[in-house]
Amino acid sequence: MSPVNDPLTPASRAWLARPLPMLIGGTWQPAAGGALLDVINPSDGRVVAQAAAGDSTDVDRAVGAARRAFDSGPWGTLPPAARARLLWRLAELIDQNSDQLAALETLNTGKPLRMARTFDVGMSAECLRYHAGWCTKLEGSTRRVSLPGEWHTYTLREPLGVAALIVPWNVPLPMAVGKIAPALAAGCTVVLKPAEATPLTALRLGELIVEAGFPPGVVNIVTGLGPVAGQALVGHPGVDKISFTGSTAVGKRILATSAAQLKRVSLELGGKSPVLIFPDADVERAIDAAARGIFGNSGQVCAAGSRLFVHEALFDRVIEGVAARARALRVAPGFDPACDMGPLISARQRDRVLGYVASGRDEGAKVLTGGEALPGEGFFMQPTVMVNTRPEMTMVREEIFGPVLSCFRFSGEDPIDALAAMANDTDYGLSASIWTRDLARAHRLARRIRAGNVRVNAAMAPDFAMPFGGMKQSGIGRENGREGVESFTELKSVAVSLDG
Ligand code: NAD
Repeated sequence: MSPVNDPLTPASRAWLARPLPMLIGGTWQPAAGGALLDVINPSDGRVVAQAAAGDSTDVDRAVGAARRAFDSGPWGTLPPAARARLLWRLAELIDQNSDQLAALETLNTGKPLRMARTFDVGMSAECLRYHAGWCTKLEGSTRRVSLPGEWHTYTLREPLGVAALIVPWNVPLPMAVGKIAPALAAGCTVVLKPAEATPLTALRLGELIVEAGFPPGVVNIVTGLGPVAGQALVGHPGVDKISFTGSTAVGKRILATSAAQLKRVSLELGGKSPVLIFPDADVERAIDAAARGIFGNSGQVCAAGSRLFVHEALFDRVIEGVAARARALRVAPGFDPACDMGPLISARQRDRVLGYVASGRDEGAKVLTGGEALPGEGFFMQPTVMVNTRPEMTMVREEIFGPVLSCFRFSGEDPIDALAAMANDTDYGLSASIWTRDLARAHRLARRIRAGNVRVNAAMAPDFAMPFGGMKQSGIGRENGREGVESFTELKSVAVSLDG
């Protein structure tokens, strides 16, 4: 890959040149142990910054600050409307700094700059505005009870307390904001742990949080390794709730660790999502969406449509269409205006993904297009379409988290339950797309598919009003909507005897 000029301003370069500290109790602090993490640009493999590598001492300070801000600070007594104004103010600051945030997101992930601007940054601001509205709308209810005597009974919805927010590297800013916004809307205070590979936009967000005027300790950001800082956060007795997005393996470990203190836990985990295309679909739209659904963000998307099921009547047309789109994608550094698909996040991740392609080949699958790393610097690989794949293959069973599509053919004779069983033949249950104009078929399949998010005649389009989350091993709980905010609350019932 040839080097491409990046749009980083002198101010951003100066910001990146100093070791990046952590936000704890409203002040910026280095790691107590002085350790640093290298931050890599995946487009060329070079170190672009260093961030503090926090450990259990830093986590303890951050949880202490969040605890004080919740238990005795101004946050708990701030009127909901004031919290809403702060969230809205943060959204405005994100908008005002969108060029810089997008450039940092692209520098750190390699994704196309236009995607970083419209999706990562644009959606983050929208997420804050959506959740700002919930601050004033959380409520309990009165209840009619059948106890003897006269009663006034009601429920109170209260914030859970200190929330630990642990996020992955694929969409770093939306992940951070997507957890901070509902937690703060509910009235919690938080400690955010960004992924070790991608701390840049989370730390710049921290500066905007201070500028917006959030009281000290309401939002704390500890950077560091998962097994060190992340694990310390999960096991800390001062944490009431853990909201985690990441791999199923780490999610299971977090659930086990948190059981000791019965912490509340939400898990957004991996996926192996099916896309089903029927002959009566708008086939060209379906082909476009299938290609975008697996190659967007270099396939590093939890809801990526990684298993494509096509009716036999149009199998060749659809598979060739997706392969043609794959071949046409310009794989390049995200700062290159021509870039359609950037690198994978690390050499390790690229090698892992290529390992799945190799295992597929070994088990009898065929590469229709792609399948290779690109030469030169950076962690690039070709968008890949595999055929002759079978449900029992490792590459079909496991989440690849890269731009690799497995394709399957189904018959016109297959009854709806057999089609659902085919889609459900996975440990995961995150999302699914169904392409058909037959409304009854679409709704019947939508009911039968075991996935938290089903789209009909559309790829996985996120919206903050729509609850998002997984069934089976794709997770526990839902983000977004009322349910997402309420997941940071506890319900209390109060009964007052009016007799005597
Ligand atoms: P990961 O599980 O390795 O890491 C996620 C986060 O957990 C990071 O911040 C990491 O530092 C931290 N962590 C790692 N080990 C830890 C431990 N022992 N204790 C506490 N924290 C720990 O996942 P990843 O590789 O960063 O991200 C990719 C995964 O995330 C994929 O499986 C993908 O499907 C999933 N994901 C899910 C969603 C969703 O909404 N369901 C969205 C995006 C990504």
